[in-house]
Amino acid sequence: MDSCLFCRIVRREIPAKIVYEDEKCLAFEDIKPQAPVHILIIPKAHFASLNEAPAGAESLLGEMLLRARAIAREKGIGESGYRLVLNTARDSGQDVFHLHFHLLGGRRMTWPPG
Ligand code: AMP
Ligand code: ZN
Repeated sequence: MDSCLFCRIVRREIPAKIVYEDEKCLAFEDIKPQAPVHILIIPKAHFASLNEAPAGAESLLGEMLLRARAIAREKGIGESGYRLVLNTARDSGQDVFHLHFHLLGGRRMTWPPG
């Protein structure tokens, strides 16, 4: 995906504060943080959203969840708590159409979400 913003971050065409990388996924700080810790975790492969994740993506998605847990621990919010958000399609407010988990923490979250 030539023009996809997050694919461009994967290719280092756009700068980002990268906090983790391996062969399958990348994690970087959100440019407009909504909490003291706000990190995006993405697959390097392009899926527009969870709806487009192919059969066989179970292990990748599971690894991303466990990576979010590890990053939360590294950032010191593993015990205080954190929220993972996976916006999908129009009603969720998804803005960037490359699958990503938001890892949010460092403050008390409210419920229900907006
Ligand atoms: P969503 O609404 O779930 O699609 O979230 C997209 C997120 O991407 C938002 O929280 C944006 O602040 C974030 N974002 C947009 N552009 C960039 C960028 N260049 N680097 C880091 N985060 C970004
Ligand atoms: Zn992409």
